[in-house]
Amino acid sequence: MKEALIDMVFQFGYRTVIDNKPAIITGGLSALKGAFDVLNWDDPHYLTPEGNTCEIEGCMNEISSEQRWGKYYLMLCHKHSSMAFKKKRRPQVKSYAIERELKRDKKTGFLTY
Ligand SMILES: [Zn+2]
Repeated sequence: MKEALIDMVFQFGYRTVIDNKPAIITGGLSALKGAFDVLNWDDPHYLTPEGNTCEIEGCMNEISSEQRWGKYYLMLCHKHSSMAFKKKRRPQVKSYAIERELKRDKKTGFLTY
């Protein structure tokens, strides 16, 4: 039940960045306000950058796809996904993404922990 509500909020809530932190807000919509109340979330509800923002350094956009760019598999926003698709030079990658990619098996492509 709670997971379904969180899924709904992630799908319909408004994504934003406040003080360089990613967040979801209700935008004043009563259905979302009700869901935030049930989840006991503040409005804005802050998210961790990892897993919620593009993995290019300095980019706080929402993730739209996961794809290979050079030697890394990255979670990218629409803009950076387009740059990767066009094989443009990859900007600096966020440190947590580099740390994860260093654990990826070079033959299988799977992460090793
Ligand atoms: Zn980006």
